[in-house]
Amino acid sequence: MRKLIAKILYFLFYKKIEKCSLRQDAILSIYGHDQQKEPFEKLVAWLVSHGYVFITPEKVYSLISGEEPLNKKYVWLSFDDGWKSGYDNVLPVLEKYRIPATFFIATKGIEDGYYWYSRAFQNRESDLYNEVDDLWKMPNGERAKIIDMLPAYKGPRITMNEAELQKMKMSGWANFGNHTHDHVMSDKCSKQELSAEIEKCSQIMKDITEDDCSFIYSYPNGNLDENTVEVIKEKGFKLAATVKIGWINPGDNPFDLHRNEFNNGCLEENLMQIYGLWTPFFNRIKRLLGVRNRK
Ligand SMILES: [Zn+2]
Repeated sequence: MRKLIAKILYFLFYKKIEKCSLRQDAILSIYGHDQQKEPFEKLVAWLVSHGYVFITPEKVYSLISGEEPLNKKYVWLSFDDGWKSGYDNVLPVLEKYRIPATFFIATKGIEDGYYWYSRAFQNRESDLYNEVDDLWKMPNGERAKIIDMLPAYKGPRITMNEAELQKMKMSGWANFGNHTHDHVMSDKCSKQELSAEIEKCSQIMKDITEDDCSFIYSYPNGNLDENTVEVIKEKGFKLAATVKIGWINPGDNPFDLHRNEFNNGCLEENLMQIYGLWTPFFNRIKRLLGVRNRK
C-alpha cells in the first residue's frame, strides 16, 4: 500500500523532483539509520546517474564557509548511531560506487551491542515508565538510572563491533562523527554531563579508529538547546547536524546543518524523502484531516 502511494505521489510530484534534482546552488543533505542494502543501492545508483558528487564534512565546511564555490550537484550522505547494517549493507555500496559517507557513532552502543532505547523498547511493558517516549523527555541521569534497572537486552547485536568499525575506516570511504557515548538527548544533560559524553565518545573512537571525531557532531534525536551549541563550540567542533528538513546553503549556520532522512522504502518514496517533499506532504494531509501528532 505504501509503495502504491509512493508511486502515485512520485507521479504527481515528478516535475518538482526533476527541478530539485537540477539544483546546484545548495548541498543535498541526506541521512539514514538502520539501512537495508537494496533500497540504499537503488538510491545511490539514481544519484550517481543524475550527476551527483558525494562529499565529506570537510568539503561541506569549505562550501558553506565560501572557501570553495558551489558549482556542482553535491550530496552529503550520513548515517546515525552505528547500526550493524552500516558495515553489512552500506559499506559494500560505498565501495562499489567509490563514494564517501559519514557515520555518527554512539560508542556505548558499540560496547554493548545495542542502544538504550532498544533495551527500553524490549521492556516496554515495564512499570518504570508509562511509555518508551517518556524516556526521551526526562533528565539524562534519571533516564540512565531507569535503563540500568531494566532486564538485560536480549538478542543478537544490532550495532557494529570494533573490528567492523576498523574495517570501515580502512576502506577509506567511511568517515566518522561524534554522536555522544550513550546517545543522550543533548538538551536533557547539564553542560558537564554533555561534555563528558562527547569526550568519552571521542576517546573510544580514537582508540578504535585513530579518529577522535572532533570535526562534526550530530545531535542525537535532533535535540538541542543553547547550552548544547555552547558545549560543541567549546569543544572545537566545526559542524553539527540536525534532523531539520532542508538543504545546506552557502552561509548557513554550521551548527544547524539540515538533513533529509531516507529509509528502506521504494526508490520513489526515497526520492520524495531526500528532496524534503514526503513528510511535509503527509503533515499537511494530517492537518487537513485534523489528526494530531502524538508528540
Ligand atoms: Zn541517533
